[in-house]
Formats: sequence, C-alpha cells, structure tokens
Amino acid sequence: MAAGRPAWPGYGPGDNIARVTPARTDLPQPLTALSEDERLFRDSVSEFADREIRPLVRDMDEHAKIPRDLIDRLFDLGVMGIEIPDSHGGAGGTFFHAVLAVEALSRVDPSIGVLVDVQNTLVINALMRWGSDAVRRRYLPALASKTVGAYALSEAGSGSDAFALATRAVQRGDDWLLTGRKLWITNANEADLFIVFANANPEAGYRGITAFLVERGTAGFTVGKKEDKLGIRASSTCELLLEECRVPNDQVLGEPGKGYKVAIETLNEGRIGIGAQMIGLAQGALDHTVKYVGERRQFGRAIAEFQAVRHQIARAATDLEAARLLVFNAARRRDLGQPFVTEAAMCKVFSSEVAERVASLAVNLYGGYGFVKDYPVEKLYRDAKIGQIYEGTSNLQLETIAKQVVG
Ligand SMILES: Cc1cc2nc3c(=O)[nH]c(=O)nc-3n(C[C@H](O)[C@H](O)[C@H](O)COP(=O)(O)OP(=O)(O)OC[C@H]3O[C@@H](n4cnc5c(N)ncnc54)[C@H](O)[C@@H]3O)c2cc1C
Repeated sequence: MAAGRPAWPGYGPGDNIARVTPARTDLPQPLTALSEDERLFRDSVSEFADREIRPLVRDMDEHAKIPRDLIDRLFDLGVMGIEIPDSHGGAGGTFFHAVLAVEALSRVDPSIGVLVDVQNTLVINALMRWGSDAVRRRYLPALASKTVGAYALSEAGSGSDAFALATRAVQRGDDWLLTGRKLWITNANEADLFIVFANANPEAGYRGITAFLVERGTAGFTVGKKEDKLGIRASSTCELLLEECRVPNDQVLGEPGKGYKVAIETLNEGRIGIGAQMIGLAQGALDHTVKYVGERRQFGRAIAEFQAVRHQIARAATDLEAARLLVFNAARRRDLGQPFVTEAAMCKVFSSEVAERVASLAVNLYGGYGFVKDYPVEKLYRDAKIGQIYEGTSNLQLETIAKQVVG
C-alpha cells in the first residue's frame, strides 16, 4: 500500500465513498442537509454569535445578566420572532429555523440559546397555535420586534407533576383574578409578556387548568427573587408572585380548562429546542477542545497526536452527530406535521447527556486550564447540567419513550 493511503477507500480524510458514487437526485436528502435558505440563516446567526456574543460571554456569566442592548440586536437579527408570519412583522420561518438559531447561539452561549428558545418554541408557538385573531394581532408584532416572552408553569410544589399547580384563577365579571406563585421562570427579568398557567376549576383537576396572558405592570403581578444558579447564569430564572392579579377575559389563551393542552403541546415542541441548545453547547465544547489539543504540547508534541486523545475526541464527535440527527429529525417531523413526541423526548434525553459528556471531556483535555474561569470550557460544563432538568427531566422523557416502546 502506498505510504499515506488509507487501508480502505472511504475511511481516510477526504477519501469518501460517496464521492465516487454517481449523484442521484431522486432520493431523500440526508437529515443534516440544509436548504440554501436554512444554511444562509444558520451562518448569519453563527457569525452574529461569534462577533456580538462571544466577547460578552464571560462578563454575562459573572454578572448573571444579559445586556438589553444585546437583546435588541437579537430582535434586529430576526431571531426573536422566527415563526411569526411576515404579515405580523416576523421572519416567516419554520420551527426548524428556530432549532438552527438555538443551536448556533448555544455554540457560543447557551444562556442566549435558551432566551431565544423560550421566546420562539414556547411563547410564540403557543400564541400562534392557541391565540385568537385579536390576540395574535395584539401580541405577535410586539414579540417580533421588542417584547421578550416567558412561560410560567412550574411552582415550588409542582415541577414534573406540573398539573398539580396551586395557582388559582377566579372569574370576576369580565376579568379573572389570579393568585399564586410561580418558580424558576426563564426570561422573567427581561420579559414583558408572560403565559401563566392557573387552575380555574380545581374540582375538575387538570381539566381546570387555563393559560392566561399577563403583561408586566399588571396590578397584583410581581417578578420576584432571581435564582443564583450553577449554569446558564446569564439567563434570568425568577419567581413570579400573583396576588389577585386581574386579567381580562380576552387574555385567556385558548379556552378556559384547555390550558393543559396548551402546556403539553408547547412543551412537546419546546423540548426539541432544548435538544438544539444541547447540541450547540456540545459543538462549542468540541470546537474549543479540537483547537486546544492542537496547540497544547506535552512530551515534546501536541497532545492531539496522542491516540487516546484522538479517540476520545472521535467518540465525542460521533455522539454529537448522533444527537444532531435526533434533534433535526424531531424538528423536521414537527414541521411536516408528522408524529414527533417520542422523537422529541429521545432527542432531549440523548443530546443533554451528550452535552454533559462532551463538556466534561473538554474540561479533562484542557487539564488544569479546564478548571479555571479564564478558559471557556468550565462554563459549558456548568451550563450542560440544565438540559437534563428543565422542560421535563430525563426521567420524565424516558417515561414518554417507554410508554411508546414498552406500552
Ligand atoms: C434554570 C431553570 C429554568 C427553568 N425555566 C422554567 C420556565 O421557564 N418555566 C417553567 O414553567 N419552569 C421552568 N423551570 C422548572 C423546570 O421545568 C422544573 O424544575 C423541572 O420540570 C423539574 O421539576 P422539579 O424541579 O419540581 O423536580 P421534581 O419534579 O421534584 O423532580 C425531582 C427528581 O425526581 C424525579 N421524578 C419526579 N417524578 C418522577 C417520576 N414520575 N418518575 C421518575 N422520576 C421522577 C425527577 O426526574 C427528578 O430527578 C426551570 C428550572 C430551572 C432550574
């Protein structure tokens, strides 16, 4: 065999069997194939993230805050209203575009990834599907141009068992009075519009749950304590206090008693967005690592030359490719109107594990530098943990998958 030639065609760099196979245009595209428009969109978000977000990441993590100016630039970029139609001032994109944006942003900062994710895959998604024409006309243009949204389901006593929520809604004439406390609400510090779930008929159990649109500044509504967190520190996570908060009847999202459907359906889709956040995070950790192992020298050579290191990185890249395929498949199925709930659960559970593994490997391969804040990977390691907790813990995702597989 000639020196430098791989043993088998297709297994060496640049020597890919696909290259010698005549091109067929009549077959379905690979899952990772992007349309021209998707590629341009992903690249523009990615360039924005490198140029505008990367210089701020360390400071945002330290001060646990996203500057409003950066949020305004995210609106200008068009990623805060991706699925909102042009007629309402949005980008007129697909759910898959939202997934691409969340991935591209999370590669640089998963806190910005989740800000954009909640805005698009939960808040806007719920309004587009469940909002009346009047609600859509009133809120979608604002959400596309300046208003950050938040999604408030969880409470101190009801996380996984979300429908045991204790916030109550009582009808008074044409209004509703909401009383209760929400916990761990992402974007709460930046948001001007909140989707708040309350039970309007506790005797009916989960069939009493109703979704309300609550604007910041409404009497009886306060954003409370901000959590001091392990990871995604720049993303705000706060308590909400509702004390006879008065919400007009026309700000019920969907119908009274149908809030459980609003929650289930939006969260089923939202968790694909968390999958996207996690593959972005893993890609960011892998990119840092590949660069670092090429530069760091020990025993007289770059540590990238040690087979043990190369194989660890090869495994991480393989994990990431598998996770991305799960995320893209779930998102494509959602856009095509095909069943996707099991696929969404699989993509979240797997990509959050991959993110944790890849970020952990990054810390290991950075050695002592991996453990200190002057280098970027310790933050990604902290950020990764949340993927297994919010929008349904991994145990809950596994239960969804098991119901489908085991019955
Ligand atoms: C940073 C952050 C941001 C968040 N953002 C939001 C937000 O924007 N909006 C919102 O509404 N909520 C939000 N949450 C809340 C989040 O969705 C919940 O924390 C999560 O659903 C888990 O609920 P819990 O914390 O009450 O845990 P628990 O439900 O108490 O679970 C504790 C443990 O028990 C396990 N467990 C529970 N039930 C079962 C079961 N039946 N079978 C097997 N295992 C089980 C869980 O897997 C977990 O490991 C956020 C949380 C965090 C930390």
